[in-house]
Formats: sequence, structure tokens, C-alpha cells
Amino acid sequence: MAQQTCSFCERPKKEVLLMITGLHGNMCDKCITQSYQILQEELKQKVHQDPTPKFNLIKPVKMKEHLDEYVIGQNDAKKVMSVAVYNHYKRLMQKNTDDDVQIEKSNIVMIGETGTGKTYLARTLAKVLQVPFCIVDATVLTEAGYVGEDVESILTRLLQAANYDVEAAQRGIVYIDEIDKIARKSDNPSITRDVSGEGVQQALLKLLEGSIVNVPPQGGRKHPDQKMIAINTENILFICGGAFDGISRIIANRLNTQPIGFKTKDNEDDEVDTENLLQYVTALDLKTFGLIPELIGRLPLVTYLDPLNAEMLLEILTTPKNAIVKQYKKLFAMEEIELIFDQDALDFIVQKALAFKLGARGLRSICEAIMTDAMFEMPSMKNKEKVFVISYDYAKEKIERSKFRKLKAA
Ligand code: ADP
Repeated sequence: MAQQTCSFCERPKKEVLLMITGLHGNMCDKCITQSYQILQEELKQKVHQDPTPKFNLIKPVKMKEHLDEYVIGQNDAKKVMSVAVYNHYKRLMQKNTDDDVQIEKSNIVMIGETGTGKTYLARTLAKVLQVPFCIVDATVLTEAGYVGEDVESILTRLLQAANYDVEAAQRGIVYIDEIDKIARKSDNPSITRDVSGEGVQQALLKLLEGSIVNVPPQGGRKHPDQKMIAINTENILFICGGAFDGISRIIANRLNTQPIGFKTKDNEDDEVDTENLLQYVTALDLKTFGLIPELIGRLPLVTYLDPLNAEMLLEILTTPKNAIVKQYKKLFAMEEIELIFDQDALDFIVQKALAFKLGARGLRSICEAIMTDAMFEMPSMKNKEKVFVISYDYAKEKIERSKFRKLKAA
């Protein structure tokens, strides 16, 4: 019988690793690999030529409903974000109409204590929209030429999140966390240079306003031999977040100096809610806090997140789609054990989270401390119980034996 050869390159079977035989021909592994690469290239070009935007445009009410499934409370922030995102993406779709009305970009800044859901809200939004999303920490950014990351590194992250699909990255969402940490330290423009603060704010301006930025695809410092990718930031939505410690005092001061502003009607409802002053935050407060006016100008939407109270924490623990309690129940169900949390055990967890002032972030670590022993032992138990109850006493005992005991003393 004649020696089998590849119908494409005519290599004989014994010179190749693998030969696939079809009805009328053969193909060797080398040709398969090459064909695959050609296919990938072709597909990539097709995707880039496709002019229809690839995102999930959802009307604001629907968007808020989606957010409600995951994020508890924070209604004002959800509303502001739903509208902003809707308008932002409408703006993308109307790019090619030639009237003079230009819808401006609406980057957002969110103010709220740690663990109240700022990052979670931004992440959920990106998930619903199905656009690339990345989180960066403003504290690691420095002006070009200093030790730390250049602001361009933000776009490297986004590009990576988009699997290097430039088109997709250019429609993505960037969450810049701890934006308050790059505030100017004092209100008067300093005589010495403020490396970590104002300089970074200046550097961020060009990203936020929309420009073409050369980005090192693998990150790191720019150097002459590195191939750069040009990214247009015009349609990237930037959401900034921060706790802005002390901003309540700034807001209180401003409200006191402008009492008329809140007493326009003789209406009880117009009284200032001193418990949660964040709801009155404006761009002016951000300026007093130390953000430069140019940066504030590029973050036209200012919204706030409420501090989480016991009721909200309990809800976070038990109701959202992927609530922590639901996750544990699922893990136990996979071992064929029904897991039950007594109500007073849940209340205990919530009280601990409030005491640690970590917002919802504390819930997870407190639950881990309570559940670790059970999760360690359960899978290897011979005569497994069918039901496992987390009672108040059980939860309390586990917490008292854990590292949280030390936290309490601190
Ligand atoms: P931060 O405000 O500091 O950015 P995060 O968004 O990172 O806080 O919150 C930490 C975690 O706590 C989230 O991953 C989420 O699981 C939970 N969480 C916080 N706030 C909420 C909320 N309002 N609703 C549901 N889960 C929340």
C-alpha cells in the first residue's frame, strides 16, 4: 500500500506526529496547527469589522431591577448609575448621527464607607452589560517618572480584561478605587510637589476626558522597544469610588453656612438628616476635600452609598442571588447535608459585623470563622447527620475561639 502523505504539504506519515484521514485526503498535525492559526486570524478580523456594538443595552428601570438582585439598598446610587450607564451607551450608539448635539460622557464618583458595595455595584453593572471591567487602586498610581504605576497601567488592565480585544476595551468600564487617597493634602496648592496626590489627579485627566493613549500591552514601564497599543478612552466609562473619610464634616460645615438652602419650604421633610450627611454630597465638597476642579469636572455625576445598618446586613447575608448563607447551604447540600442557620445566629453575625466596622466585607470572614471547623470535618464523617444547625451558641463559641477575639480587644 502506498505511503500515506498529507494532502496539503505531502509530508509522509512517518515524518509527522499525527495524521488525520478524511474521505478524500489526509492532514498532518503541522497543517492542522497552521490552518487553526489562519482561522483565528480571519475570525479576529471579522469581529473587528462588525460594526454593531457588542453590549447588552438595558433600560434604566430594568437595569436597577438587575442590580437589586445582587446589591441590597443603595437605591440612589443604583438609580444614578443605571441612568448614567444607559445614557453613556446611548451616546455610543448615536455616534454616527450628524447633528450638533453631543451627549457628554458621564463618569461617576461614588462616596461611601468601606464595604458598603461601591466595587460590587460597579462590578455587577459591568456583568449585566457584558462589557470588559477592571478595578484599579488609585493609591498605586504615580505620575510618570516616579516609582509606582503610570496611569496608563489602568488601560493595560482593561485590555487584559478584554482579552486584548481593543474594540471591546474601548467600551469597557474602569473602577478606580480609593480615589480619595489621591486628594491634595492641604487646600493651598503646595510649594513642594505632591507626588502621590495632585500629580496623579493631573495624569488621570487625560484618561477621563477621552484621548488616545499608548498602552504597553504587558504593563510595566514604557520602554523604547515595547510595542504599544493605542487605546481611545473616549467611550470608556470611569467610575471612581472612595470612603472620603471626614467628608461628612465638610458637608456639615457647608450646610451650616447655607441654612437657607435647606429651609426653602416650611416643611419637615426639608430638614437635614444629620445621621447620614453623605446624601447631600456635591462637587463642591469634593473640591474642599482635595480633588482638583479639573478632575471633578470630568466626574460630573456624584452619588453616595448609605452606611449598612443591621437590617441591611441581615438581608445581604441571606437574600441576594449569591448570598453568603445560600453559598454555604449549597456547599453542604453537595455533601447531602441540610444546613440551617438559626435566626439568632444570623443576628449574632450581623452584630459582629457592625462592631468590626467593615461593612458587608466583615460578614464573609465572620462566617468563615464560624463555618471552617464544620466544613473541615463534615466531608470525612462516616455517619453523617442529615441536618446541621448553626445555633447562636455554636456561632458564639466558634467566634470566641477565632482571631476575632483579638480583634474585639483591639
Ligand atoms: P467597597 O464599598 O469598599 O468597595 P465592596 O463593594 O468591595 O465594598 O463590598 C465588599 C463585599 O461586600 C462585596 O463583594 C459584596 O459581597 C458585599 N456587599 C457590600 N455591600 C453590599 C450591598 N449593598 N449588597 C450586597 N452585598 C454587598
